[in-house]
Amino acid sequence: MKYEEMLKLAKEKLPKVQSKSERFVVPKIQGHVEGNKTIIINIFSIADLLARLPEHILKYLQRELATPGYFQDKRLVFGRKLSSHMINEKLQKYVEVFVLCEQCSKPDTKLLTEEGLLVKKCMACGHKSQVQTKI
Ligand SMILES: [Zn+2]
Repeated sequence: MKYEEMLKLAKEKLPKVQSKSERFVVPKIQGHVEGNKTIIINIFSIADLLARLPEHILKYLQRELATPGYFQDKRLVFGRKLSSHMINEKLQKYVEVFVLCEQCSKPDTKLLTEEGLLVKKCMACGHKSQVQTKI
């Protein structure tokens, strides 16, 4: 079985209802559509909260949304109309892949490179997992 499949299986086995108070809530993006562009105004505060670089999040979102984006006055601008639902979904995915610990689901992780591999290390429980997604 491949590692990704094992992860998926492990995730499916987790009980759906986790203690809500402890569960990390991914922030929602705030923004609006302007002409043919989509502007997100809180990307820097989200990046702060996640302790990730805005550029890293942008790279991922650009690829996932297949839409070029850029920063302008601390806002993120995408070159077409996107629904906030769609962006939130991708952001949620980003957080699962690059931020949350696979073991304890806490967001206190750091990304490290070990032997050329991207590794997510949890500062809360010490768990390490390899990040498979490349951006
Ligand atoms: Zn952990």
